[in-house]
Amino acid sequence: AAKADGRGLHRFYHQDMLIGAQSRKQLEDDLRTALAQNQLHVAYQPVVSTKTTRIVGFEALVRWTHPERGAISPAEFIPIAEDCGLIESIGEWVLRTACHDVAHWPGDVRVAVNVSPIQFANPALPTIVTSALAGAGIAAGRLELEITEGVFLNESSSSEQMFRKLKAIGVRLALDDFGTGYSSLGYLKNAPFDKIKIDQSFVRGAAVPGNRNAAIIKAIVMLAETLGMETTAEGLEVQDEIELIRELGCSHVQGYVYGKPMPAAEALAQLEAQGGAASASGFKVSRSPR
Ligand code: C2E
Ligand code: MG
Ligand code: MG
Ligand code: MG
Repeated sequence: AAKADGRGLHRFYHQDMLIGAQSRKQLEDDLRTALAQNQLHVAYQPVVSTKTTRIVGFEALVRWTHPERGAISPAEFIPIAEDCGLIESIGEWVLRTACHDVAHWPGDVRVAVNVSPIQFANPALPTIVTSALAGAGIAAGRLELEITEGVFLNESSSSEQMFRKLKAIGVRLALDDFGTGYSSLGYLKNAPFDKIKIDQSFVRGAAVPGNRNAAIIKAIVMLAETLGMETTAEGLEVQDEIELIRELGCSHVQGYVYGKPMPAAEALAQLEAQGGAASASGFKVSRSPR
């Protein structure tokens, strides 16, 4: 009986995997169509300076509205795009869109774009970045590329070369989701990051007394400062976290408490509401975090 059950179980799993593969293939096809038919768009989440409490930039986050399934999270479709080779085209489209949008914002406001390790491994990336900057007519310093530790899984000499080329263009580099996965301090030794983004899993609960995340954030901030890098704490959701993160010394913050990802036009409206530029020049509108 046990044997029969085992076979039944096996058959069940097999069929389940088959359905999974089919719907995944379907999603791949749909994603191809999405790119061609403008179902993708970019949302922008404010990045706020803890010192001035002004918006100094936005992170570009890709969005997909599927005609039948509605909104699908990038956490679901980016890995599929990476597997089926679509990430190159999607990533380039996001990059060009973000550069085009930031061109309409005050001159010192930046945009951050997520770059997949697969894009990072493509020797054509510096050419694509240069072309996107030129196409939008923006200074390289207004673009920040967010890279995860996944890039270090590739052969190190080629990634070192890529870092050098990107820095030579003048774009800024941020290490995203720091502290998750296979963090190694060795990565920070050689890579020319301008900023470390502290993953939201450390922010969550950090304001609760006795929680050890605050100590970890503090250590990361000290490390970053010593290396001359900025820090962004990700995923701040409540007021208590704002106070704590400021005390811990993070230079920048990002999270729902400051604003959810929004359309480009709304991002521009928020910048206008704070009186234009990122730097606190002219009149200053005090922003009450929502
Ligand atoms: P990420 O780059 O770490 O982006 C931050 C994620 O945290 C975003 O999720 C953002 O909406 C979310 N977030 C921000 N503030 C809060 C908060 O206060 N609370 C909570 N719970 N979440 C918050 P999103 O947009 O769903 O993106 C998920 C991931 O998908 C991104 O993580 C990034 O790894 C990837 N991704 C998004 N857009 C792109 C893209 O254009 N290219 C690539 N390669 N990856 C992308
Ligand atoms: Mg990011
Ligand atoms: Mg992140
Ligand atoms: Mg992430």
